[in-house]
Amino acid sequence: MGIFAIFLGKSEAPVDFGDRHAWKSTRNLKVYICPDIKRISIIKHAFLVWSEITEGKFKFVYTDDKYNSDIDVNFSQNYIIRCYDTNAIGCTLVKSYARGGEILHASIQISSSPFIKESSDKVYTVILHEIGHAMGIAKHSQNRNSIMYTFTTDSKKQKIGSEELYRLKKLYKW
Ligand SMILES: [Zn+2]
Repeated sequence: MGIFAIFLGKSEAPVDFGDRHAWKSTRNLKVYICPDIKRISIIKHAFLVWSEITEGKFKFVYTDDKYNSDIDVNFSQNYIIRCYDTNAIGCTLVKSYARGGEILHASIQISSSPFIKESSDKVYTVILHEIGHAMGIAKHSQNRNSIMYTFTTDSKKQKIGSEELYRLKKLYKW
């Protein structure tokens, strides 16, 4: 049982995987956020929104210990992140046992791209998208207004919709 890694994120994956990986338990997932005074409240808000929209089925708690976390959020110094052989502004690496196995860890990277750095709306949209991947939504949406669309479009319009909830329901058999 080797570690199988898939890389996901914004406009990154030439091949989209289906939603096959899920957490064994979605309660009290330990989240580590790399210290960043400017963006920490936006990121915590994004986790809270996912938790609320899943009616508490996903619960996130915060930890200062990166190496004991389930999900870690990091800020890259680079404007563009190399993610799955593609350039991206956000990237999520999901580790799990072979295809179809449970998720062991998710690591989110957010770039320092001026495109998102100057707008808290854009950072929020990117982090919301990446958390979606970290929760197990692997495949990108075809809907431009979906938060799981491959690219950032109009950040005010991109939302968590019924499609994302349906996919989580299917994946976790709620
Ligand atoms: Zn993505």
